[in-house]
Amino acid sequence: MTLALLGGEPIRKKPFPAHVTVGDEEKAAALRVLDSGVLSRYLGAWHPQFMGGPEVQAMEAEWAAHYGARHAVAVNSASSGLICALGAAGIGPGDEVIVGPWSMSISATAPLFYGGIPVFADIEPDCFCLDPDDVERKITPRTKAIVVVDLFGQPYDAAAINALADKHGLTVVEDAAQAPGATLDGRYAGTLGNMGIFSLNYHKHIHSGEGGVIATGDDRLAERLRLVRNHAEAVVEGMGAADLANMVGFNFRMTELDAAVARCQLDKLELLNAKRAANVKYLEKRLREIPCLAMPKVRPGAGHVYYVHACRYDRDIAGLPAARFAEAVKAELPHFELREKEGTKLGAGYVRPLYRLPLFRERIAIGGAGWPFTLAPERRYDGSLCPVCESLYAGGVLTHEFMLPSMEKEDLDDVIDAFTKVWENRCELEA
Ligand SMILES: *Cc1c(COP(=O)(O)O)cnc(C)c1O
Repeated sequence: MTLALLGGEPIRKKPFPAHVTVGDEEKAAALRVLDSGVLSRYLGAWHPQFMGGPEVQAMEAEWAAHYGARHAVAVNSASSGLICALGAAGIGPGDEVIVGPWSMSISATAPLFYGGIPVFADIEPDCFCLDPDDVERKITPRTKAIVVVDLFGQPYDAAAINALADKHGLTVVEDAAQAPGATLDGRYAGTLGNMGIFSLNYHKHIHSGEGGVIATGDDRLAERLRLVRNHAEAVVEGMGAADLANMVGFNFRMTELDAAVARCQLDKLELLNAKRAANVKYLEKRLREIPCLAMPKVRPGAGHVYYVHACRYDRDIAGLPAARFAEAVKAELPHFELREKEGTKLGAGYVRPLYRLPLFRERIAIGGAGWPFTLAPERRYDGSLCPVCESLYAGGVLTHEFMLPSMEKEDLDDVIDAFTKVWENRCELEA
């Protein structure tokens, strides 16, 4: 059978079913807000409306109840949430924050806004989250916090990393943007650290267009998060805040429209996640028979929610690079309806290790004179910082999104057939 990449017939041309999670509920919620005429009700002053309008406050209460968190603070993105969290944690110039190399860039760049110095630790070869042993090696007397990422939908090693944080007095900021609804030993991702950040952007499990939520069990941190979210500096005198460090605020406020949609989406989260898990189970039953692939490892005690399905790839067994294998599978399969511009949702590796971004390599973040890296003259961001991440990036993993909840068994069968066809005909790709 000739591979589609080499001119053969592809396994499937008809697009996969559209992944759309919004429907009548969200329409009704948006109309309710539009009819009220109040699209946002924040006031950037010490006033009853400093905390936002009714939809925002209801969403926060529902989010906190769902996740079993004492506080939920709505913001306009997870990126804003990470900046809020590092501000609330009291990160200041020259403080070191341990971060991971494999994530959305903001997980590693957020400390820079407060003059903090990101220090990269490597990731686990099988679960892809921060490796506790390497985190321990990277702790110095200047370390103040750790940003852990629940990468691809599974919680970080909370037992080991939280113990290190306790021992050294560090704040754990948990980036749960890819893991809403994931669990570890019965607790939700996003509530495993001191502050946990969720995303509601279009590409995440549930979304409101743009949006984010920060969960915390700490009253003092919750107050500081709410201050940073809404022009802290204009407010702190009126409310009599005691701790003024990092109280230069932003407008990170979520609108009433986004909050109303987010409430409907939260109601759907568990069902959507159950479908993802069922699809992964169905795919894995057959994909695990392909010798060059190893199914993602789930940490003991964890419930994985599969933002992507990341399979380890063995180049020696396949006899060809991951990128070539991925290219061939992609050629067999279509895009998702309504997302044609995103292409077929499969690739080799994941983002380039973040320390290779120009801002780290050239040690220039804020202004052109090297701030804040001038505070850490000895620190270098070179290509070999995190060898495990480098080797995964170089073709040790295939990531795909064919487990999206819109996929039915007949769609998944096409995915399996495409992988199998490429495996069986891989000799056509050599030379
Ligand atoms: C998507 C994502 C973010 C950023 O989320 P936004 O809401 O778009 O700001 C941060 N961290 C991780 C791990 C993400 O996947």
